[in-house]
Amino acid sequence: MALYGCPICGGTDSTPYYSVNGYALVQCRSCGTVAVHPMPGAEEIAAHYQRAAYFAGEDDQGYADYTAMKKALRPHFQRRLRRIGTHFPQRGRLLDFGCAAGYFLEMARDEGWSIAGIELSAPMASTASHSLGIPVPTTLDDLSPEPFQAITLWEVIEHLPRPVDVLSQLAERMAPGGALMLSTPNTAHWQAVRAKEKWVAFRPPSHLLYFTPATLHRALHDAGFEQISIRRVMPLSELPPLLEKSTASLQSGLADGSARPWPVALALWRAIRLAAWGWQRLRRPQDDLFATLEAVAHKPQ
Ligand SMILES: [Zn+2]
Repeated sequence: MALYGCPICGGTDSTPYYSVNGYALVQCRSCGTVAVHPMPGAEEIAAHYQRAAYFAGEDDQGYADYTAMKKALRPHFQRRLRRIGTHFPQRGRLLDFGCAAGYFLEMARDEGWSIAGIELSAPMASTASHSLGIPVPTTLDDLSPEPFQAITLWEVIEHLPRPVDVLSQLAERMAPGGALMLSTPNTAHWQAVRAKEKWVAFRPPSHLLYFTPATLHRALHDAGFEQISIRRVMPLSELPPLLEKSTASLQSGLADGSARPWPVALALWRAIRLAAWGWQRLRRPQDDLFATLEAVAHKPQ
């Protein structure tokens, strides 16, 4: 097997962590980052995203139906736009790196941002370009050199074999004092630690790196960002098996935006999840129940 080199700290000592889809995940003994090892090559990674199937549910690796997710993503994108907007009341230029079909950019433009997007998947870049009416290149090299006030990466950093290099390149494209905001699965979540077969984000070769608040902080710092603030969002608690089974279709329907539950049923289901969350908090206070990390980091003035 190829020699291990941690993509975050460069450490060469690792320990087996988990194995899924025929890929081995290892954990760096020095910084704790979990990564696919051996790391697939750049061509293999790029080829993975060039098939329309990745975004249309014909592939167990990709999105169930990315287009149907638009509605489900909206409240998350609204919250994120509010958070980044507080830093730039005057708005400015915003780049969404890994913009997929361009849903976030569409909302950002409605909020007064001047938008640009990058999307590695050529079919997805073309969809975004048509719907937004702007060119959406597949690499940073094809982007105009004018600096950005804001750069966003939603569930992208875990797909990158060398995230610090990409974050550094993005920092170079940013105006002094600019803000970068990203989200990624939280691998400190108790399922990722103690019930790995349940953790939905272990998805190599799509997800190559797995971050905790500490390793994400380190990656952003090493890429040259400062004033790094990381929030844990989306508490995901475990329900008793019977409830988990009977609400599974509602849960997946809510996740992909297809479910339109009766408001009372939805309120009841949310109350049950909240109660489960409270119970879990009391029973195992050491557990991290938050499924997602959201970070904001600034380029020095
Ligand atoms: Zn490391």
